[in-house]
Amino acid sequence: MDCIEAQSRIPLFLEDNLELVDQKALIKHMEDCQDCRDEFENAFIVREGLKSIEEGRVFDFDSAVKKKLADSRYFCKTATRLKMLLCVLALVVTVALVSYWLGIFSL
Ligand SMILES: [Zn+2]
Repeated sequence: MDCIEAQSRIPLFLEDNLELVDQKALIKHMEDCQDCRDEFENAFIVREGLKSIEEGRVFDFDSAVKKKLADSRYFCKTATRLKMLLCVLALVVTVALVSYWLGIFSL
């Protein structure tokens, strides 16, 4: 992912509407690119700062940015594991059904 792609995906990332693969790529890119990290932080300040003013609460920028990135990393890791688990489960079910149909394994 290059900087233009990364920065175009930041608004969707902030809204939690980014596909898993793009989310992982964006997080990885921001770990290595300070420009895009700054772009994300600026967009995050505007979005979350305005929300906190509207809601009358204190906005702790550093904690909020770290939490957003940590939550996203956790989501990516969990979603990836879940997808792998579902793939393994689908494979096991397929093998069991094929084996049953071929008479190799009876349920
Ligand atoms: Zn970049």
